[in-house]
Amino acid sequence: MANTRQKQKRIPRILSVANQKGGVGKTTTSVNLATALSAIGKKVLLVDLDPQGNASTGLGIQRASLRTSTYDIIFGDSTVEDTVKKTRVPGLDVLPSSIHLSGAEIELVGATRREYRLQEAFRTPMDYDYVIIDCPPSLSLLTLNALVASDSIVVPLQCEFYALEGLSHLVKTIERVQKTFNSRLDIHGVVLTMFDKRNNLSEMVAQDVRKYFGDTVYKTVIPRNVRLSEAPSFGLPAIVYDMKCTGAKAYISLAKEVIAREKKIIGNDHSLNESTKNENEVA
Ligand code: ATP
Ligand code: MG
Repeated sequence: MANTRQKQKRIPRILSVANQKGGVGKTTTSVNLATALSAIGKKVLLVDLDPQGNASTGLGIQRASLRTSTYDIIFGDSTVEDTVKKTRVPGLDVLPSSIHLSGAEIELVGATRREYRLQEAFRTPMDYDYVIIDCPPSLSLLTLNALVASDSIVVPLQCEFYALEGLSHLVKTIERVQKTFNSRLDIHGVVLTMFDKRNNLSEMVAQDVRKYFGDTVYKTVIPRNVRLSEAPSFGLPAIVYDMKCTGAKAYISLAKEVIAREKKIIGNDHSLNESTKNENEVA
């Protein structure tokens, strides 16, 4: 029995959902992309790396009753297996965040291998195909930990006037991480969020972003949809709350695009990750 379980374990693909700008749809994208990937049959671990804990509460986790959280993972005081919580979505687990995480930045400053804490916790065989990390709105040590642990980044961009503002900082941070900590890191894709088809500005911003990022931008655009913003107050992903709403359909389409890109990047297996693991072990 133990052997069978061991065989199921594999190195998951790790995607961070990151943009240091606040309120652009990182958490909404993390929760609904993770749910849609589970609906497609993948086993997914959603990691809440934001002290605000919106991904955890949006999945119905009562944060006050948590014994351990992503904080304990970062400081090596708990394992993923001991911290993980099941959600109401089959195939989707969550590593919840607690308020302690707000102190982690300062505590990490003097810590050894402070950028590698998540990588060391996650680059090990697990019972998941994907780990999706919901990053906080900053380029802090927490986000740096997420990028060092990740294979790829999904960047949500809100369709508003200042969408591209500050993006050069994110791109520079990614380049720095590639050079110093994690050479395999790349941008998986840019996802346009809160698109309002009645507003010309949304279309203009979308065109600008496509000019700037080309094919890196996913074809799927996430519309502004009130069901997406209501769902978290019921502790449910929008895909479960109202699977027929335009927002839910868009996230299912995004998940299919993500999987199609994944197949191009790594083929149908996880051999790339296996070799990356060996590289890390040697290092
Ligand atoms: P933060 O930087 O604070 O972590 P965030 O980038 O994670 O924010 P979200 O929390 O996902 O952003 O979204 C910000 C707000 O916009 C939330 O109230 C969310 O419900 C709402 N929202 C996100 N996407 C949409 C959408 N497509 N349509 C309508 N509302 C949305
Ligand atoms: Mg968020």
